[in-house]
Amino acid sequence: MNIEKIRADFPILSSFVYDKPLVYLDNGATTQKPRCVVEELENIYYTTNANVHRGVHYLSQRATDLAEEARVTVQHFINAEHSREIVFTKGTTESINLVAHSFCSQFCNKGDEIIISEMEHHANIVSWQLQESIRGITLKVIPINDKGELDLEEMKKLISPKTRLISIMHVSNVLGTINPIEDIIEIAHRNDIPVLVDAAQSVQHMEIDVQKLDCDFLVFSGHKIYGPNGVGVLYGKEKWLNQMPPYQGGGEMISQVSFKGTTFNELPFKFEAGTPDYPGVIALGTAINYIKKIGLDSIKVYEDELLQYCTDKLMQIEGIRIFGTSDKKSSVVSFLVGNIHHYDMGMLLDKMGIAVRTGHHCAQPLMDVLGIEGTVRASIAFYNTKEDIDRLVDGVKRVVAMFG
Ligand code: PMP
Repeated sequence: MNIEKIRADFPILSSFVYDKPLVYLDNGATTQKPRCVVEELENIYYTTNANVHRGVHYLSQRATDLAEEARVTVQHFINAEHSREIVFTKGTTESINLVAHSFCSQFCNKGDEIIISEMEHHANIVSWQLQESIRGITLKVIPINDKGELDLEEMKKLISPKTRLISIMHVSNVLGTINPIEDIIEIAHRNDIPVLVDAAQSVQHMEIDVQKLDCDFLVFSGHKIYGPNGVGVLYGKEKWLNQMPPYQGGGEMISQVSFKGTTFNELPFKFEAGTPDYPGVIALGTAINYIKKIGLDSIKVYEDELLQYCTDKLMQIEGIRIFGTSDKKSSVVSFLVGNIHHYDMGMLLDKMGIAVRTGHHCAQPLMDVLGIEGTVRASIAFYNTKEDIDRLVDGVKRVVAMFG
């Protein structure tokens, strides 16, 4: 990993905030974009802008070809069997809502159950709660232990003949825990239950092979994987996507429309109503190719080292509490120090040029379980350095000194 060369690809990392060099440790919220991704967007708008899948003219055909190439790039990135199993969405949130709406309308009746966990992001809670009120399904929730790990024995007890789906995050955006999704999928499949994996916080940090995992759905966001905002991915096994009804109606998702009735397009277009963000889709392909060039194996080794360094240094601060102490963690450290409010800590670090996240991180039920209102969260990307971590730790120490 040539970090200096990598950092040069991200112009924003050389910027100053309040006259201090920026330390960006809010990568769990969104990652910065390398020059090649921004240039790809510009290039598409300047040279290839035309609506996809509709025109016979050159530009439309070219835009369509590039967008479909990006679909194949995503397919190979997560090793899906077919490119038609890759549906482009606005992001993780829309992908989960799509599955919740469409899967439940086909497979769930009143009283049927969906299993999630205590550590889920609101996207993987509220999408299902909407189905609770629409269809009368019930949510069951896997508890976590003191280290912030899922209790799989409890999960087994939650499974019943009425369980229709298990929907679980791969990596927690608060605790950093890497959940044992292989085991969860194995247990679920033994009971004929499909599994959705929320990979919003994992796909940018580790290799994912959906065929090896054998997950039924996997979702992630472009903007957290160095790609553009407003574009995301739903992977679904063809056998499920084929049985599920469309999520939205409109152009492109149809085969034939008449006032007597409408038939729907084939996969994946059945789920892509309206004009998609094809420049975003194409630039997501560029982001994935950029990551592949660095290599997820190298990224993981480097980021794990930074995470350990960050954890060890923070642990030396008196009165610090780290939330999420599993042996299997990725890229995220959430903490509080003494009685210092997370918001004060975040504001004061910001004044030192250090960007961290504060608050409930869209995981209020998890905050309830932890008995806190929020945390300070530092989240790491491969362009961060030990110097970034040193600046964070010094900053935290200065805030602690200010509060006496
Ligand atoms: N799931 C997880 C685990 C996340 O971390 C996030 C973003 N914080 C989401 C879902 C939602 O992602 P988006 O806002 O990009 O749709």
